[in-house]
Amino acid sequence: MRGLKDRIRQIAPYVPGEQPKERDIIKLNTNECPYPPSPMLLAALKEFPGEDLRRYSDTEAGDLVQALSDVYGVPADQIFVGVGSDEVLALAFQTFFTELSDGEHLLFPDVTYSFYPVWAELYHIPVRAVPTDDGFKIRREDYIGQQDAGGIIFPNPNAPTSICEPLAFVEEIVRSNPDKVVIVDEAYIDFGGESAVSLIERYENLLVVQTGSKSRAMAGLRVGWAFGSRMLIDALKAVKFSFNSYTMNSPAIALGAAAIRDVDYWKELCRRIISTRERLSSGLRELGFSFPESSANFLFAKHETISGEEVFQTLKARKIYVRHWNAPRIGDHLRITVGTEEETDALLAALQEIVG
Ligand code: PMP
Repeated sequence: MRGLKDRIRQIAPYVPGEQPKERDIIKLNTNECPYPPSPMLLAALKEFPGEDLRRYSDTEAGDLVQALSDVYGVPADQIFVGVGSDEVLALAFQTFFTELSDGEHLLFPDVTYSFYPVWAELYHIPVRAVPTDDGFKIRREDYIGQQDAGGIIFPNPNAPTSICEPLAFVEEIVRSNPDKVVIVDEAYIDFGGESAVSLIERYENLLVVQTGSKSRAMAGLRVGWAFGSRMLIDALKAVKFSFNSYTMNSPAIALGAAAIRDVDYWKELCRRIISTRERLSSGLRELGFSFPESSANFLFAKHETISGEEVFQTLKARKIYVRHWNAPRIGDHLRITVGTEEETDALLAALQEIVG
């Protein structure tokens, strides 16, 4: 007989980076921005009319969509917004990849954002993890002319590798798969890559997903979005409205719009993080770490002699948190978020003692 437990969905969930409660730690484990969000967001937070909370939020998140439309020059009906890009991506998996034909798979790199296999499992989507090369680079040819491909997703820059591919590389994959949805997850694009948003006018099958969590310092507000053809955006909206009309709350819509409109502050945050990343890169190299050239707000570093686990644990004992996975191919790597200048000094000093 089927017991209660057998009727309940069992799933191994995604494991996010730790969010320790203590304040006196150096937190370089979840690719958050080390600086506060835009002063315009903070002003909007102060001015937010709390009494409005008795009403439901705007199902279309119109202010936020309009801000994105103005800043990115994309028509409002080609923009979809959600509760962080994780929600946008989860809805996209459900919308575009749950109707694959027999024998088809969703393709993504073997070393990539570890949420992809979890959503695939959640929605019963068959997947094929495509090996990256020895330097963790995505091979373009592996995503072209694949008989079993029913859809494609990859981050650019990829995470946790930090490697960014040029726009022509992305375009060739999109162009070669006109009858499949190709999702480019651009969570880290603002730290040195060229966005594929310019391609959405030409390719109906392309969805470009971005987030306010990294380069705009609003991870806690949960604001993400996607740009794409009307066909893809309308399909995403239909699924969202079949799930929850009010995914985004009104403060997130108002504050998110304020932050998106503050283009100067956003660019300044990116500039500072890129500059600290370059300093961190030379410091780590001097200490015997190697890593691909990063176009993100983190480095994917491996020490020449000491194991990833050991460096991770020793740093943690000193209250410096970085990310480490006990996973095939990447067990000796650490993903280190670029922090403030002072955090970078403290990290390099600690590593000097550990590996020096
Ligand atoms: N994509 C990638 C590649 C990420 O690393 C992250 C952050 N964990 C996300 C998407 C989701 O970010 P958020 O939900 O905060 O927008």
